[in-house]
Amino acid sequence: MFDSISDKFSGIMRTFAGKSKITEKNIQDAVEEIKVALLDADVNLRVVRRFINGTMEEALGEKVLKAVDPGQQFVKIVYDRMVALLGDEENQKLLLKGPDTTTVILMMGLQGSGKTTTSAKLAARLKREGRRPLLVAADLVRPAAILQLQVLGESVGVPVFTLEGEKDPSKVAKAALSQARKDQRDILIVDTSGRMHLDQTLMDEIQKVRDAIKPDETLFVADSMTGQNAVAIAQEFEQKVGISGVILSKFDSDTRGGAALSLRSVVGKPIKFIGVGEKMDDIEPFYPERIASRILGMGDIVSLVEKAQSAIDEKDALRMQEKMAKNTFDLQDYLDQLNNMDKMGSMEQLLEMIPGAKGQISEDDIDKAEIRREKAIILSMTYAERANYHIMGPTRRKRVAAGSGTTVSDVNRLLKKFEKMRLTMKKFAKNKKYQAAMLKQMGM
Ligand code: GDP
Repeated sequence: MFDSISDKFSGIMRTFAGKSKITEKNIQDAVEEIKVALLDADVNLRVVRRFINGTMEEALGEKVLKAVDPGQQFVKIVYDRMVALLGDEENQKLLLKGPDTTTVILMMGLQGSGKTTTSAKLAARLKREGRRPLLVAADLVRPAAILQLQVLGESVGVPVFTLEGEKDPSKVAKAALSQARKDQRDILIVDTSGRMHLDQTLMDEIQKVRDAIKPDETLFVADSMTGQNAVAIAQEFEQKVGISGVILSKFDSDTRGGAALSLRSVVGKPIKFIGVGEKMDDIEPFYPERIASRILGMGDIVSLVEKAQSAIDEKDALRMQEKMAKNTFDLQDYLDQLNNMDKMGSMEQLLEMIPGAKGQISEDDIDKAEIRREKAIILSMTYAERANYHIMGPTRRKRVAAGSGTTVSDVNRLLKKFEKMRLTMKKFAKNKKYQAAMLKQMGM
């Protein structure tokens, strides 16, 4: 996701972060590079101009040029502005009423934008949060839409309201709302029709639905892969129907980032969620700070820690931290970590989140064969050896190499790497920020 822009930014940021002295010319050059990166990412021209001018003005101020660490200051300015561009976290949440009234959510967007899928994902998410949603199939245009929603609803255990034979979506929506209230369903999610292109009929239809059910949230589902086009369509929906928030679908396939970076600023409405895959739990709240960090190639420590925590048992993580701090982390623990990595998902995703890893190591650099070899070596060691590899003289090393189908130099390499890792851990274990660096050191 965002590969190109993120590569460019992390390059710019890296040259700057360490600089102890910067000149006006340095700033001008960097800002020019940022401009090109943003335009390449298909960010709206007006947004780019504003971003660039603001950054330039702030960076040329005394604060940066005279700062002790001007490079850091510059990076911070760019980061803060990027966060502001993406939104503010206060507005990201859905406005949900208490469980004793029905909150109405109207979903809209062009055909193929991911509206139906997103409706079901949202229902599943709210259900997990303890709500009782009801989905409504009010897309009466696309032939398979009702069936699609029924199938998805069933898969996430959320009922789907349909009205056989009814051609007027506003009537379907209204009947669904009565039904929801009767059944004490506290959330109604209405999937409306899309079209291939914007047309008046669609707008009229959605306005009618809107007037019939008076939604609390009117969410526009935008296909992030369509970049500037998504922004233009969102603007149109905002003018004709009014939107309260945006869900960016297919964020996982968005390689440029133009829609994410322009939408908030152009349309003035928050991005509330992102769709990150085709599966029903592939929906996440949109966190401007995290996305900004990723775009800038600064890594996303918070996401990484959360991800690691959900994969590793929290107690495990604490135990591991303590071991690192006390320097009692042994090869058995390392083996556990290697096994945990499988649970955490793809390397590429992880790498994106590790500060400084972007552009420094790529997935290709991580030698999967090496990891397999390391696992085999540790498995061939006795528990006593895993606990204290210092007891491993040449004979033991030879035995382990033979047992794991590797060579003595493979064994030596692992032990050397492990020694280095322990040293790093000892140094950094007390500092949270460096936990990510440790992961990197472990080859993760
Ligand atoms: P609708 O016409 O707007 O209702 O669109 P659909 O919900 O049918 O989605 C169109 C296609 O996009 C389907 O193949 C979905 O699986 C896919 N899709 C939807 N959301 C996402 C997402 O967040 N990521 C990915 N990769 N695919 C998605």
